[in-house]
Amino acid sequence: MTETSKSSVLLIYTGGTIGMIENPETGTLESFNFHHLLDNVPELKRLNSTISTIQFDPPIDSSDMDPEKWVDLVHIISENYNYFDGFVILHGTDTMSYTASALSFMLENLDKPVILTGSQLPIGVLRTDGKENLITAIEIAAAKENGKAVVPEVCILFENFLMRGNRTKKINAENFNAFRSQNYPPLARVGIHIKYDTHLILHNSTNRPLRPHYLMDPNVVVLKIFPGITPQTVNAILNIPDLKGVVMETFGSGNAMTKQWFLNALKNAVDRGIVIVNVTQCTGGSVQMGIYETGNKLSETGVISGFDITTEAALTKLMFLFGHSMSVSDVEGHMKATLVGEITIPQ
Ligand code: ASP
Repeated sequence: MTETSKSSVLLIYTGGTIGMIENPETGTLESFNFHHLLDNVPELKRLNSTISTIQFDPPIDSSDMDPEKWVDLVHIISENYNYFDGFVILHGTDTMSYTASALSFMLENLDKPVILTGSQLPIGVLRTDGKENLITAIEIAAAKENGKAVVPEVCILFENFLMRGNRTKKINAENFNAFRSQNYPPLARVGIHIKYDTHLILHNSTNRPLRPHYLMDPNVVVLKIFPGITPQTVNAILNIPDLKGVVMETFGSGNAMTKQWFLNALKNAVDRGIVIVNVTQCTGGSVQMGIYETGNKLSETGVISGFDITTEAALTKLMFLFGHSMSVSDVEGHMKATLVGEITIPQ
């Protein structure tokens, strides 16, 4: 049975649409003070959890999220880790998948839930999806079974689905169901009941304590291939000073042009120690560089397969690995393996 009694949850408000409320005097939407959360969302009093809050000062639009603020989040979680059963991060939707991916790598040996959520409509608006998302996220962060967290992972809860954070993408700027995890099934489906798919959930099998990481190297880039991309563009990107890693978004199952200037540019970058990871531009599916001649040619340049990893997870994983001053071959080795369920490695 899932127990939620006597759980304590730390709610961290970073900013974004969810935290807006109508000022009764002026009628305008303003960021609301989360220290008064229970006054503004009285429904929370009916949950069986103790809720404490902390907020970014000032709250930010998630377009302003960056590695330094991920480090701030890791500090907040690690410093409060022993005092709470779970954590809920309220975050703007625009970059939520990047933050969830980054935190999944930065919080090694996590054994408590870290649930990110937000909303498409402010919490103070009549048809808001924010209240439901907030209440469900808290319920999931508080959920325990035999004294242990039901979902000890970094997740995104949005509308009907609880998803592994590093598998998600924001796929819609309008619908309430704004996120998808195309390459991994949801960890729970939210309807009248919250139905967990327990065999899909990762548990920290090491029994080692939380190991927070604070080092991220921002010298990475996304190179999106498109028909007609010029040598000037590709060379300008691959010759960025101090560049260490490239997430190259290719067509379909990992294909790109076979023009010689392009293959030479890639090989030259790989020879200079730049790690180039091939990910697909499609929202679902996997890179398989052996299927077509085009993919084979990419392999020969030294580009490595990202399999079915998302751009968001590949980029933050490169930042994380290079942040720990790993050698090129170690980074490549880790990019081809799964650290926290971010890739399905083909058998
Ligand atoms: N621009 C907002 C943000 O990401 C949108 C949202 O909160 O959904 O912070």
